[in-house]
Amino acid sequence: MSDCLFCKIIDGSIPSTKIYEDEHVYAFTDISPVAKGHTLLIPKHHCKDIFEMPEDVARNLYAVAPKIANAIKAAFNPIGLNTINNNGAAAGQTVFHYHLHFIPRYDEKEGLG
Ligand code: 5GP
Ligand code: ZN
Repeated sequence: MSDCLFCKIIDGSIPSTKIYEDEHVYAFTDISPVAKGHTLLIPKHHCKDIFEMPEDVARNLYAVAPKIANAIKAAFNPIGLNTINNNGAAAGQTVFHYHLHFIPRYDEKEGLG
């Protein structure tokens, strides 16, 4: 979609810091991290939210979720990690291209450091 921020990140017209890419998905660091290593995983196929997400798109995205989580664990050594997905403005979604947040968790004294 030409006016979608995350489609522009996928096509490289908006720069991002890549964590992982394959033919189906792209993962990159969040521009406003709520914790060190905050990462977003998105499908290359544009869909607004989980309600519009085709099953094969979900399958390909969730297939790599453990790989992304383990890469974050190896890089940042968190003691826990949340995966979060907001759907609809009422649920806190601000970018309307499906995305899964990976938010590593640390001791209280760590975090964003
Ligand atoms: P939402 O609130 O829709 O679940 O999450 C959208 C996320 O996208 C936010 O955490 C926000 O910081 C991130 N974000 C918004 N614009 C950009 C951008 O241009 N680049 C990157 N890397 N992240 C972005
Ligand atoms: Zn898009």
